[in-house]
Amino acid sequence: MDFNYSAEQRLWLDRLNAFMAEHVLPARAHFAQADPSAGFPWNAPECLRPLQEKARAAGLWNLFLPPAAQAHAANGFRFDSPGLSNLVYAPLAEVMGRHEFSSRIFNCSPPDTGNMELLLRYGSPDQQRRWLVPLMNGEMRSAFLMTEPAVASSDATNVETRIERDGDHYVINGRKWWSTGTGDADCRILIIMGKTDPAAPVHAQQSQILVPIETPGVRVVRMLDVFGYEDRPAGHGEVILENVRVPAENLILGEGRGFEIAQGRLGPGRIHHCMRTIGVAEEALELMCARLSERSTFGKPLAGRSIWQERIAWARTEIDMARLLTLRTAQLLDDNEAKSVRADISKIKLAVPRAALKVIDDAIQAFGGGGVCQDHGLARLYAKTRTMRLVDGPDEVHMRVIAKAELR
Ligand SMILES: Cc1cc2nc3c(=O)[nH]c(=O)nc-3n(C[C@H](O)[C@H](O)[C@H](O)COP(=O)(O)OP(=O)(O)OC[C@H]3O[C@@H](n4cnc5c(N)ncnc54)[C@H](O)[C@@H]3O)c2cc1C
Repeated sequence: MDFNYSAEQRLWLDRLNAFMAEHVLPARAHFAQADPSAGFPWNAPECLRPLQEKARAAGLWNLFLPPAAQAHAANGFRFDSPGLSNLVYAPLAEVMGRHEFSSRIFNCSPPDTGNMELLLRYGSPDQQRRWLVPLMNGEMRSAFLMTEPAVASSDATNVETRIERDGDHYVINGRKWWSTGTGDADCRILIIMGKTDPAAPVHAQQSQILVPIETPGVRVVRMLDVFGYEDRPAGHGEVILENVRVPAENLILGEGRGFEIAQGRLGPGRIHHCMRTIGVAEEALELMCARLSERSTFGKPLAGRSIWQERIAWARTEIDMARLLTLRTAQLLDDNEAKSVRADISKIKLAVPRAALKVIDDAIQAFGGGGVCQDHGLARLYAKTRTMRLVDGPDEVHMRVIAKAELR
């Protein structure tokens, strides 16, 4: 067991860090500027495309895609990707996590990454040609629509949207929300989960189907705020699906296979979330240390107070523990099917956001009133990281998975 980064990990980290320093960090202010349009869809900042072209030319493109994934590509498609293992990708995702907007520069941002893996693994050759290729090229974006306002969607068997066969077509009716990506003007394709056969055994009722966002009957009716933040340009939409008609060949894998697809999609996605969240925690700790080192109260620097040294010590310890557990899970996922490491994935999904939230909360405290306003980015980091205890399954669902494995 070697706890140091391998030569391959260091090589990629150096390449990414150099690119970040030269091209991405200087553009930070441009990303922070809001799209002036009042209503959605929102446009990506103008600096995005040129940066994406540079990243691609530098070989830093589709870094999330595991080496074996290319084998699933139909018709001999080859995608621009170095084919890194999860273990090599982990430190890179951490770097991207420190600067929220940066994942997209490398075509590594959710929900597209999960949707691309889904299409690679389960899409037909024609589905791959029409939607996977442009996604891999960063020419468009996508959304995954499972959660519904009317039912407790952390139990996906509750999902009520209907996908009904009508001749050569399927007709879809339902209401979704928290559909991340639907605010983006570049979002073109939706993957929708719904029931094709409510009378089938419970895990064979659901299917997944591809729906171009321009299809008549698809209406993004509003964007949901996260603690008041709009999360532009991706956004999180509430979407009404009314008699949405798409060709039968848009169904992924076959009727009743929705659960199987959802499970395959979420494994790597959860690891990526955790890796980025560790980057967020590192960013918060660095800001906290800098602030404490430059300010004094009652005649003594804040950094010299034992209460702050204790908080810094816990932050460093928790981050390092979270990273080690995440790297171990990345390795397990490289060597096994996602299904067999489910409990390990749940462990990091439970532990990492909590650890990061504690660090960000302490950092906010260290900044005093400055911590909760827009000036230092900490309020935004807290809001974003708090959602990590809900997205891709709330904590309680992951605890259930871990506890069941333990009890077995
Ligand atoms: C920022 C953000 C982005 C999102 N992006 C997407 C997306 O792109 N696509 C998509 O489909 N969804 C998305 N979601 C939705 C997210 O996956 C769901 O919110 C989550 O799965 C919980 O489902 P729910 O909101 O229906 O909560 P419910 O299922 O109603 O659960 C409510 C609460 O019940 C508790 N609970 C649930 N199960 C148990 C249990 N077994 N034991 C004890 N307590 C339990 C938990 O505390 C949970 O928070 C996103 C959510 C957020 C906040």
